[in-house]
Parts: sequence; structure tokens; C-alpha cells
Amino acid sequence: MMKKWAWTWAGLMALAITVGSNAAERKLRVTATTSMVADLARQVGGDRVQVEALMGPGVDPHLYKATATDISKLQRAQVILYSGLLLEGKMDDLFAKMRGAKKKVYAVTQDLPKDKLLMPADGSGHPDPHVWFDVQLWSQCVPTVVRALSEADPGGKQVYEQSGKITQDKLAKLHHWAISRTGELPKENKILITSHDAFSYFGQAYGFEVVGLQGISTVTEAGLADVAKLGDFIKARKVKAIFVESSVAPTAIKRISADTGVKIGGELFSDAMGTPGQMEDGYDVGTYEGMIRHNINTVVNALK
Ligand SMILES: [Zn+2]
Repeated sequence: MMKKWAWTWAGLMALAITVGSNAAERKLRVTATTSMVADLARQVGGDRVQVEALMGPGVDPHLYKATATDISKLQRAQVILYSGLLLEGKMDDLFAKMRGAKKKVYAVTQDLPKDKLLMPADGSGHPDPHVWFDVQLWSQCVPTVVRALSEADPGGKQVYEQSGKITQDKLAKLHHWAISRTGELPKENKILITSHDAFSYFGQAYGFEVVGLQGISTVTEAGLADVAKLGDFIKARKVKAIFVESSVAPTAIKRISADTGVKIGGELFSDAMGTPGQMEDGYDVGTYEGMIRHNINTVVNALK
């Protein structure tokens, strides 16, 4: 009797394990590069997807090279989503290779209208990749994510389309909040000085004059001449605060603060979101919405 029960129990356990793992297997496996792209995939994919981000909090995508573990994660993925516009400059060849191997690879920015992209004055000829800081523009990446997930999982198409719409509604609300919150600052205070040129789209969308110490990419470091020039600018324009970034070493900004006496207004999330679960004013800074709210509240409070 005892033995029979034991067998039945073992059988049930085995069944439970099989059912459990099948449910996990049925989820669409999505691998994303940055945390912002992963957030977009989670918003659109909901319960049907299992999203993994390669780059965690504080990681700089401009300098990021894929590890052996990343490559096997990308190979296992059913859909690969990256930000694009050469943000992940050192992974571009890898994406081309994966595409060649018939993987489903999409840059979430690939369908943005070209006339919405900013062309930096540095003469590189490449558009500025930091589009997520204009919430309305980032929202225009949603249809690409909907299409990417639907092509890999046609049965979920309606679900993805519906959550895509909900995501865009949420982003429209966030965009309007950003406009009204930044509107609290007088025009002459709306100068945003940060470590690297990540905030041009932000500046355009919310009316800030933006100055980055390093260029669009963090590959080239700031020279002494740049530091001195920025110091003069800060004094001439009576700038109230400058900002460090979560994914860039703060050394140069700290030196400028020490040289000019301007205060550091806080740390902004530039090319990576915060730590998931870390709450601030009721928002998780490990989400896209929390990242945007943190940045805008930090900037407005410091420049008021
Ligand atoms: Zn950047």
C-alpha cells in the first residue's frame, strides 16, 4: 500500500514538473540589450513573454562588448531586441551575424521617421541614438515591438496590439506630466549640463539647452580644454547645478564642480535604468517610467 502511494505521489510530482516547465517553455523568449528596451518588451509582451536584458543598472551600452554568456543568451532567444542607431556600437557586427543566421533581430528604433532623428554636429553622419529621453518619440518604437513579437508568436498578435495601445496611452500621460513638471522652471534656468551628450532629445522635447562634456558616445573622453570651456560657460550663464550620470564615471563633472563651485544636482539615469525594486516617490527606478520621473524630478528640484 505504502509503495503504491509513493509511486502515485512521485507520478504526480513528475506531472506537476512537466506542466510547470511546459508553461515556462511556451513563453516567448526575448533577449534585449538595454534595460529600456527590455522594459518596452515587457510592457508589450506581458505574460506571454520572458524578457532578459543583457545590460543591467549602470552599464554603458556604447562601450559594451558581448560576453560568451551573452552570445549563448542571444542564440537561445526567439526574438532579439536592441536599441539601435549604433547605441550598442560594439555589438553591431554580432547583430548582423545573428540576422544572417535567420534569427529574428530588430532595432526598436528602426521604423522611426528619419526626420525625427537628431543629427549631431560632430560630423559623424550618424543620428543621435538617445531617443528614449523624448517620451513621445520612444512611444513611436512601440509598433515595431508589437510587430517583432507578433512575427515570432502569431497567436499573440491581438494581445500584443492591445498592450501596445495601452503602453502608448501610458507613455502619452508620462510625456504630458514631463511637460508640465519641467514647465515649473523659468526659461533661463533650463540649462542641463551632464557627463555626455545623452540629453539632446530630452532638451528638444522639454525645452532645455543641453551641454554634454563628452560627445554622443562615451568612447572619447573629455579633454582639459573641454573642462575649462564648460567652466567658463557655467560662470557666464550662472548655472545653478550640473549632473552626473549613472553609467558614466563622475570624475570630470566632479572636477568642474570643484573648480567653479557649482553644485552637483544629483545623478541622472542616462543609458541604463536604475535597480529594479528601488522605489522613489512611489515609482520603481528600475522601470522606464521611474527612470524618467527620477531624472525630471532631480533636474527640476536642482535648477529651481
Ligand atoms: Zn549615451
